Amino acid sequence: MKEIYLDNSATTRVYPEVQELMVRIMNEEYGNPSSMHKKGVEAAARLREAKQRIAKTLHIQEKELIFTSCGTEADNLAIIGGALANQRAGKHLITSSIEHPAVLQSMELLKDLGFEVTYLSVDEHARIRLTDLEEALRPDTILVSIMYVNNEVGSLMPVAEAGELIKRKNPHTLFHVDAVQAYGKVPIRPKAAKIDLLTASGHKIHGPKGVGFLYVREGVKLKTLMPGGGQQKGMRSGTENVPGIAGLGLAAELTCKNLTEDMERLYALKSYFVDEMSGIEGAHVNGLTGKDSAPHVISVSFDGIDRSEVLLHALESRGIYVSSGSACASNHPAVSGTLSAMGIRREHLNATLRFSMSVFTTREELEYTVLTLKELLPVLRRFKRS
Ligand code: PLP
Repeated sequence: MKEIYLDNSATTRVYPEVQELMVRIMNEEYGNPSSMHKKGVEAAARLREAKQRIAKTLHIQEKELIFTSCGTEADNLAIIGGALANQRAGKHLITSSIEHPAVLQSMELLKDLGFEVTYLSVDEHARIRLTDLEEALRPDTILVSIMYVNNEVGSLMPVAEAGELIKRKNPHTLFHVDAVQAYGKVPIRPKAAKIDLLTASGHKIHGPKGVGFLYVREGVKLKTLMPGGGQQKGMRSGTENVPGIAGLGLAAELTCKNLTEDMERLYALKSYFVDEMSGIEGAHVNGLTGKDSAPHVISVSFDGIDRSEVLLHALESRGIYVSSGSACASNHPAVSGTLSAMGIRREHLNATLRFSMSVFTTREELEYTVLTLKELLPVLRRFKRS
């Protein structure tokens, strides 16, 4: 049976080159980067190489990178570490209501510690409104955290405009951007967008799981959440995951190499799929679908479907892997925060699938998915009615 993987926002297949490099490092270059002998120096060189590769893709300095165990940890470090280090300037934080739990739960923890959080609502396209942000900013706002691309519907946030606004109103307010779903999919320039802290994750860009990074603009103060042996300038102790970091570095380089062309190809595929969905009775594409959205995510709600899981498993039986809501957040179905926040119809909250593509996705795969959906939907709808 064909295997059509359309769940790339949950995780991606590792590039063969990345796998090869990681295996070589695990087998041959297994030293501890803190060791003083040749094996250590060799491992430390791998960390430097990964930093150089990532720094190039973002036009930042190598010393502005901290490696973490995942995107979640990078979000935690940016938000909790940023708030704790800067609380003398104020205790007010701003985020949006559709952030990933890694951000929302960090905010909850800070609320327990006496911080105040303002949650920005979103419009029908799952985007924050700049006027709301402007209104929410106060002299005691120390950090704003907004995602670059929403993981459930692929909305692109007005990040550069938000950065401009934040720094105009209060140059000391830190601007954190969770770019886990954006890095390697759209061009990102943290400096130009006035971003102070930016999160990315290895497994969303055909790199390994269990590794991520945080960009920390030079001069930004964070409190470490992992005290210990003082690795990574004391900001994140623990022996570095050298094979994972090297794999992440190479994946970053490969994924950003032909970004413009890859983006164009994905936008064309997205446009094809959206057009086809519009032709299916009772299928509704959520959010924006053009270049004002991310190129790789398409969210579709279906009339007459009781539970998205039923459709998900029916597609799986034909070799097509998709997600209901956002698989990366949890494996038990819960009503989607993003879909409710953007105000989609109640009956669609549990009847929505997310199709997410990668550079490996082909037009043939999408054609097969469209055909399969056309075949399955009437059957499942009949089954529902009986
Ligand atoms: N932020 C966003 C927007 C995500 O989509 C995800 C995972 O899907 C994360 C953070 C967490 O990343 P990780 O799985 O590397 O912890």
